[in-house]
Amino acid sequence: MDLDTVIARARQVAVEVLGPEARSVDEERRWPEPGIRALQDTRLTSLTIPKSQGGLGYGLLALARVCEELGRECASTSICFGMHAVGAAVIAAKATSTQQGQLLQSIAQGKHITSLALSEPGTGTHFYYPQTKLSADGSGSLRLSGTKCFVTNGGHANSYVVSTVSADPDAPPGHFSCVVLPADTKGMHWGSQWLGMGMRGNSSRSLELNDVQIPTENLLGKEGDQIWYVFNVITPYFLVAMAGTYLGVASAALDEAKTNVKERRHQHSGALLAENQVIQHRMGTLWANVARTRALLYRAASSGDEGNSDALLGLFSAKAEVAECAVDVVGQAMALSGGRGYRGGSELHRMLRDVQASHIMAPSTDTLRSWTGRALLGLPILSD
Ligand SMILES: Cc1cc2nc3c(=O)[nH]c(=O)nc-3n(C[C@H](O)[C@H](O)[C@H](O)COP(=O)(O)OP(=O)(O)OC[C@H]3O[C@@H](n4cnc5c(N)ncnc54)[C@H](O)[C@@H]3O)c2cc1C
Repeated sequence: MDLDTVIARARQVAVEVLGPEARSVDEERRWPEPGIRALQDTRLTSLTIPKSQGGLGYGLLALARVCEELGRECASTSICFGMHAVGAAVIAAKATSTQQGQLLQSIAQGKHITSLALSEPGTGTHFYYPQTKLSADGSGSLRLSGTKCFVTNGGHANSYVVSTVSADPDAPPGHFSCVVLPADTKGMHWGSQWLGMGMRGNSSRSLELNDVQIPTENLLGKEGDQIWYVFNVITPYFLVAMAGTYLGVASAALDEAKTNVKERRHQHSGALLAENQVIQHRMGTLWANVARTRALLYRAASSGDEGNSDALLGLFSAKAEVAECAVDVVGQAMALSGGRGYRGGSELHRMLRDVQASHIMAPSTDTLRSWTGRALLGLPILSD
């Protein structure tokens, strides 16, 4: 499937399924099942699975653009899709033949949703420093104990990519690993849904792992590979999925503002708001903000797909710039729309709440600015 067809398919699902569902997904804090099933039915959930495994075989640019289409209609669904796409890319990166047969094929066939369980209450935004313990029990199994939090698709996915630290006292410091945890594994205990001010449909939940036992085949790559996954797969894919989503929100907010200023006419003057020069100037500035941020994101994502050595700088900055652009554009769109935008239940009301997560979701904007600076200065990216 060529990229234009992929994007057209994403737009169609977004407009026909995600858009009509978005309000109730938000109001009812409901995991967006119809949207996710439509994305499975159209094969879009195989976006980041290699063609050799039956997937669409796309990388960062395609993920950013698909999430932009989805985010325009429903940011919650877009993040649920995005976390699945990142998890799928993680599993695919070093999949063994068993993992190819058991996991990648069913993801490629649209039968399996995965997600990321990296964040923990103790280390917060430093999601790359897990405390969850992994140990081998000597009988062909691995055992996991710890607590994850903010797991998107929590309780709805078929599997979860989990990061861990070795419990072996002889393991070197920072010996982190990734495993895949099937949803029906005994010893997994879900907390209740986290009640965010926005992103209310993503079923963000905590997960207790009490001496959970999984086969050794569920280790992703080798023990100690987690930092490789963080910088080669998780961070690039995660950043473009989030950046695409919130760029979509910014672009939808700009359209809302455009509609509102073109429809709002004052009785005393007979003039439309769109005829006011200050409003025209503000609209032009907002458009330029969205357009240059989109250009940065697409360029960074393409650079990552080409494997350029400095691609991470662009990717770090793209997500930080999208967060600043989206929060600004949604806020200004609301001001330009006056009471129509500010009323409870408006599209902008939902966007304003959803978009705040763009700065918070790790790597946060502050973290990304520091990482960009350190990479630019030739310093190690992780210093804390
Ligand atoms: C809607 C939503 C969905 C999510 N989905 C997932 C998911 O699917 N999987 C997953 O694993 N996680 C997920 N997360 C978790 C997310 O990625 C973050 O890890 C989490 O929000 C961090 O929250 P915290 O409150 O513990 O941050 P804290 O660690 O308390 O940080 C708070 C603030 O302090 C800043 N800060 C922290 N340390 C430093 C420092 N050293 N220097 C400067 N500033 C610093 C941070 O930048 C941040 O702005 C999700 C979060 C949200 C909100």
